[in-house]
Amino acid sequence: MINEERLLLEFKTLLSIESPSKREGEIAYYLADLFEALGYPCFFDKSGEHTGSEVGNLIVKIPGKKEVPPLLLCAHLDTVGPCEGIEVIEEEDLLRSNGKTILGADDKAGIAVLVELAKALKENSFSHAPLEIVFTTCEEIGLLGAKNLDFKHINAKWALVLDSENPEEVVNAAPSSYQFSVKVFGKSAHAGIEPEKGINAIKILAQIVSSLPTGRIDYETTMNIGKINGGVYVNVVPDFAFIEGEMRSHSEEKLNSLKSEVEDKVREIIENHPHKIDTLPSYKINFTTVFKAFHIEEEDPLARMIREAGYLAGLEVKFKKKEGGSDANVFNAQGIKTLILGTGMQKVHTTEEFIRKKDLFNCARLVSTAVKLYSERAKEFF
Ligand SMILES: [Zn+2]
Repeated sequence: MINEERLLLEFKTLLSIESPSKREGEIAYYLADLFEALGYPCFFDKSGEHTGSEVGNLIVKIPGKKEVPPLLLCAHLDTVGPCEGIEVIEEEDLLRSNGKTILGADDKAGIAVLVELAKALKENSFSHAPLEIVFTTCEEIGLLGAKNLDFKHINAKWALVLDSENPEEVVNAAPSSYQFSVKVFGKSAHAGIEPEKGINAIKILAQIVSSLPTGRIDYETTMNIGKINGGVYVNVVPDFAFIEGEMRSHSEEKLNSLKSEVEDKVREIIENHPHKIDTLPSYKINFTTVFKAFHIEEEDPLARMIREAGYLAGLEVKFKKKEGGSDANVFNAQGIKTLILGTGMQKVHTTEEFIRKKDLFNCARLVSTAVKLYSERAKEFF
């Protein structure tokens, strides 16, 4: 069903269209024209107003059997940098960048597979389930497109996100991530004339930093303090200093206890500070959710269906955890059960990025086989 030559050609065309985050307009309109020409209705949601992208997420509806829920398929439109003037080097078995830019297989390999699927469905008109194809913007800068996706257009209960490396390794779990900031307020004073009238916020913050755990906390939990700032002049006792950090874990419980630990340590250090002036020193802690964890059991019907699709496509599918976030975290949090499939992209987010043609073709076979299986069985699943 998959036409490898046509897939490869489309993939190279997509790689030639620059699409850094927020500047996904050109590639999005190219795809919208392409899907319209195939006769599939598509439209943009209004997420651009919130993400800052030139366009919203592109949503394509491929009609199918009416009685089963649609299957959601997703890839992201944006790439990281450097992505100006990408030159694709084609070798016999792989495509790579020339070493000065990324290649952009992350995630254009996923987009190319979905385009090939749509073309193949047009040619092989078997009675398939309806499909909802979503091309998100701004994935690389915090999953912004997916977070602002207008879910009232989405009716799917299951989804496949094409945004991982090896087609034989399907991602069924990813962590939660929180970012946090700790601000310490002291009191300024002239450092040479009357230092005793000041409270040094940097000194207090240093104490906080050295008391907090960082690095690998346990096998499924990490924490990092990644930014520090404070003070203005060298001759002034600084009245303000802050840090920013993040924590990730596959266990929500562990993250909650880590959050409490941060709060307790900061409160303790501030409260026990020997020198107090009025209400100072004081502090402010802020936590924000970046993405929420998910874990789909290997015996879940969606996971079993993918393993079987792999078998039929000649692939030995195994499941693995991912340590980063992706659009799949957002869909799972919305109640749409989602797995992440590998497209073959390797060394992503580096100028050594490459993709083996064989892996790209295997991904396309896996996805089209999964659509067939879903179409045959969706009635049993829901
Ligand atoms: Zn990606």
